[in-house]
Amino acid sequence: MEKQIIPILMYHSIQSVPRTEVMRSLHVHPKSFALQMWILKILGYRGCSVSEATASFRSGTTEKLVALTFDDGYKNFLTNAMPALKKYGFSATVYAVSDLVDTSNRWDSKNGISDNKLMDYSDLRMCVSEGIEVGCHSSTHTSLTAEAVELAREVTFAKETLENNLNICIYTFCYPYGHFNDSVINEVSNAGYKSATTMIRSRATANDDGFCLPRVPITWHTLPHLFLAKVLTKYEDVRKYS
Ligand SMILES: [Zn+2]
Repeated sequence: MEKQIIPILMYHSIQSVPRTEVMRSLHVHPKSFALQMWILKILGYRGCSVSEATASFRSGTTEKLVALTFDDGYKNFLTNAMPALKKYGFSATVYAVSDLVDTSNRWDSKNGISDNKLMDYSDLRMCVSEGIEVGCHSSTHTSLTAEAVELAREVTFAKETLENNLNICIYTFCYPYGHFNDSVINEVSNAGYKSATTMIRSRATANDDGFCLPRVPITWHTLPHLFLAKVLTKYEDVRKYS
């Protein structure tokens, strides 16, 4: 039997930004996003959360799935991504930074990246009520492989904070900057998460370690033909260890 392949698409902000924007690739134009969701729909795919994707690997269903992830939990998700998701009955996973809920992407300011508002708890609760999974992206968006990082605080306490504020269980973690090592994976696993996503490039399969799930980056510059190649072909898979 052919192994099931689920591309886990990695988005950040869904927003129109000027040409001069620093790190424009972190944004996707709302019209591009809507077109990408339409492409998935006409190809017979359903957009799902990371936890649905890993459950599908375990159960071996043959449904055509593409998992959709939104790192950092930008407020523009609600206005610029949610309408297209609802239109096609898609789910997704939003990765929130627990200490920075209702603030902005402060960790980026030293790199000259513009301030961009993050969702507050009522926004995140609305996501949950719309069937969107909320995952955890650490407490402070620091590199978890840095020296002197407080892993328990960034991984375990962050999970408890989101769970207490949202009254749900948090099952999936996303490594800030894609940085992780064995100690980080141990902390994530011991905290009770069931999966974790990285920035390793590839479409995911049931053979992947659930705590090192690869993803497919979608950026401002991902035109429709490239989007198709990323979802349908080995385009990303051959970049796995590059
Ligand atoms: Zn991030």
